Amino acid sequence: MTNLEKRGTVKVINGRYRPNGNFHYIYPNTPIYSDSGELMGVTNPRDITHIHTYGGEAHFFSSLKDGQLWGTRCDNPACEHTGTVNLPYKTYCPDCLKKATPVNLTAVANSTAKVHTFMVTERTGAFNTLEKPVRFINIEFYGVATILMGYLSIGEPKIGMRVVPIFRMLDPTFTILDLSWVPEETPSENLPSGFSFSK
Ligand SMILES: [Zn+2]
Repeated sequence: MTNLEKRGTVKVINGRYRPNGNFHYIYPNTPIYSDSGELMGVTNPRDITHIHTYGGEAHFFSSLKDGQLWGTRCDNPACEHTGTVNLPYKTYCPDCLKKATPVNLTAVANSTAKVHTFMVTERTGAFNTLEKPVRFINIEFYGVATILMGYLSIGEPKIGMRVVPIFRMLDPTFTILDLSWVPEETPSENLPSGFSFSK
């Protein structure tokens, strides 16, 4: 049996990633036989820990555990589209490529988020951890130039429906799954375990 005790972790020391432990595990392979019992091949089970760097977007993911939703705004006066607000968070303005300014959009989301369109799916990709069917919603916000993808945790989506963000502040995963949405005026006792309204 593979020993998972020393599963890899990463620390940053002097500004550099310092991986420690095991990042690749090999499990015993198994034979693949044809209907008539002839050997056709083997399975090669592998367990790989992928190190995913958030770069300039780390602030967005870090803020979710604090119950905040951040986007960015271009403040470059020379930009053709200065003042444009983006959510998803864009570290650099896609128009002028200058560094954008982080803006806290929690209040904007609480008061103006609406379902632009939606998609309900029974079949998801590998490693999906959301309960099926997944209610993916595309969310629009007043004064924001872009649409944000998310998932509705309660109820059935409708176009134009007012929704509010909820945040996994208890045991956060530090992924986009820490952000979800529920219909406006959902009572807090109905929220999924670990989730709360914004702070
Ligand atoms: Zn710009």
